[in-house]
Amino acid sequence: MRVGIFSNNVRRSLEVKAALTRRFLERHFIIDDENPEVVVTIGGDGTLLSAFHKYIDMLDKIRFVGVHTGHLGFYTDWRDDEIDDLVISLQSDNGQSVSYPLLDVFVTYKDSNKRDVFTALNEATIRRISSTMVTDVFIGGEFFERFRGDGLCVSTPTGSTAYNKSLGGAVVHPTLDVLQLTEVSSINNRVFRTLSSPMIIAPKDWITIEPEGAADFILTVDSDSYHKLKIKEIKFKISKKKIHFAKYRHTHFWHRVQTAFIGDEDAD
Ligand code: NAP
Repeated sequence: MRVGIFSNNVRRSLEVKAALTRRFLERHFIIDDENPEVVVTIGGDGTLLSAFHKYIDMLDKIRFVGVHTGHLGFYTDWRDDEIDDLVISLQSDNGQSVSYPLLDVFVTYKDSNKRDVFTALNEATIRRISSTMVTDVFIGGEFFERFRGDGLCVSTPTGSTAYNKSLGGAVVHPTLDVLQLTEVSSINNRVFRTLSSPMIIAPKDWITIEPEGAADFILTVDSDSYHKLKIKEIKFKISKKKIHFAKYRHTHFWHRVQTAFIGDEDAD
């Protein structure tokens, strides 16, 4: 098996990387960061997010495995002291995997024929900080509302526990093929009105936003951000691509959520 190893630069992660590399070589794995079948990330959810973007053009050929050197994450199943078990599991690998939805973002610009397509694992946001963002919002091609506020966030199910959750969005089970639209500080008064609730968008639908003339929008796609954009239209759709994880153990999703956000009530 060809394995790639992707680590953050934290000292503990680099130690685990060195130990894991030794174990892989002892057991005759091929270390291949250019063309891997399995990518092991070492760090946290942010590390997996970076690895996802590094290998974004090879998603159909790659399965990811996340080792966490901090807390249990949403994309990381293995503790850093379990790498021997991980190597043994990979040795008896028979291709088992679990796949989760991704978000495609299609952007067109004013005064230009340029068109960009991005794919997000967590979410994409469109924001304006200089003054109020005004945009028409369409769901499935039908006009829904005129939004005024700081911005909008569209998240995947696995991204629902990230920025989406901070915006008051729902936590969504990752086996559901849906997107979620949440508002960032909408203006609601007697004159301006938005739904003001997160919306779960069905798999066949898409979200379109057409912002009113400004040249300083900020688009974020996971950890990446693009500034001073003159946006004509953005379409958000569930991607045809998926992210695949090699699955050797099952961490119950709601247990993960409970561990991450509520914890042991006896511990303090
Ligand atoms: P980052 O430092 O890489 O990540 C910020 C935090 O978000 C870290 O604690 C990270 O966990 C956690 N995280 C990432 N993906 C997650 C997920 N799917 N579920 C739960 N927690 C998750 O920050 P960044 O590079 O600027 O942005 C990466 C992501 O962080 C973004 O996609 C966004 O969702 C999230 N973020 C959230 C907020 C917020 O909630 N206000 C602000 C900025 C960014 P680890 O510690 O395990 O890496």
